[in-house]
Amino acid sequence: MPAHEHGVVIVGSGAAGHSCARALRSGGFAGRIRLLNGEGGPAINRTLVDTGLLPGLLTQEQIALAPLADVEVIDARAMRLDASERTVVLEDGRALRADALVLACGSLPRPLDEALSVDPAVRQHTLHGARDADGLRRAIPEPAAASVIVIGSGFIGAEVASHYAGAGARVTLIGRSPLPLRAAVGADIAGRLASLHAERVDARLGVRIVAVRAARDGAATVVELEDGSTVTGEALVVAVGSAPALAWAGFDGAIAVDDRFRIPTRPGIYAAGSASAPAMAEGHVRVDHWDAAVSQGAHAARSVLHDLGLGDDPGPWAPTTGFTLVAHGAVIGARGVRGRDAGEATAELEGGGLLTEFSTADGVPSGVVGWNAGPHVARAASRL
Ligand SMILES: Cc1cc2nc3c(=O)[nH]c(=O)nc-3n(C[C@H](O)[C@H](O)[C@H](O)COP(=O)(O)OP(=O)(O)OC[C@H]3O[C@@H](n4cnc5c(N)ncnc54)[C@H](O)[C@@H]3O)c2cc1C
Repeated sequence: MPAHEHGVVIVGSGAAGHSCARALRSGGFAGRIRLLNGEGGPAINRTLVDTGLLPGLLTQEQIALAPLADVEVIDARAMRLDASERTVVLEDGRALRADALVLACGSLPRPLDEALSVDPAVRQHTLHGARDADGLRRAIPEPAAASVIVIGSGFIGAEVASHYAGAGARVTLIGRSPLPLRAAVGADIAGRLASLHAERVDARLGVRIVAVRAARDGAATVVELEDGSTVTGEALVVAVGSAPALAWAGFDGAIAVDDRFRIPTRPGIYAAGSASAPAMAEGHVRVDHWDAAVSQGAHAARSVLHDLGLGDDPGPWAPTTGFTLVAHGAVIGARGVRGRDAGEATAELEGGGLLTEFSTADGVPSGVVGWNAGPHVARAASRL
């Protein structure tokens, strides 16, 4: 039997899966690579869904990921995982066996809390893929004349609110935390973001929702808040975070992997990207950012090569990547992670920017976030 005759099967062709396939080839893997694409259209750079597709600046084809040479792309969804056989079963019944199987299936938007009273007649929009952006563009054809409610003041909620506010819509942004994104950007930058939201939109931060219902005429949505107030809008966007897309494989939540992306109890099976929670100094931490998923996919590929006897041990993965968020014209740029029990220190920059540096409980620099901080972020990141 030839070595590695089944090759590598990667479930998910987004940031982590695409990068894993590319790194396998560039790392010298000569066997078969099968990449499952369940996107329903070309695999895309998801970071451009809200900034490129939603405003109509780009098409799905323009944000498609580059084709990969010598990689079989299979446009189908995996429906079942047989871990003992390292096999995934597709929707058409085909079973794909692998010498190494990489689960890189990303995440899906979380729904509103089940405990809330939500009228089933209300149309809830989420923003994840190209179809969602199209759906929103159809629902809000003239943003300048529209009223939009955004529930969730995290990354996507901030960008969606900022997009519609910039287009002239009357936007209400509802968030549970008084300091949006505090866990990712620290208290000072979260405070700046909260103030900017308050200037540009009707920001209801630090409040809980009691109910979501259709207005009497059915044409609008009414959100009732715990302080007794209500807000009304023609369209509702729900952006309350994401959850790993792993129900098909029988996992409840992100897959805890070691620091080389192996699933410890399932030899030959790996998980990378936002469906995984790699072991780090702070414990198992799930990171849902594009550059981290790309870096994790490539690292998982190097672990596969090593475990198949084709490469060196890549060592533990450490997050050095970050994210950029643009809201109402302000740029928040980050590198590294904030970590649990982090120390944080903020400096005010000339010109009004902010730079917050995080350190671990032992005082080791772990991350940096800037508010309109330009090159200061990259300079501080070199110390991580
Ligand atoms: C609207 C939006 C904007 C964002 N903007 C930013 C940003 O500005 N910066 C940033 O850093 N991050 C951003 N993110 C987050 C970033 O896109 C994700 O962290 C990143 O895509 C995660 O990579 P991944 O490979 O884990 O998942 P994905 O890139 O989502 O890829 C997973 C792929 O797996 C497929 N799949 C899932 N299940 C199956 C199955 N059973 N069978 C076959 N295929 C399957 C999916 O269809 C998908 O194509 C944004 C996310 C969204 C939704």
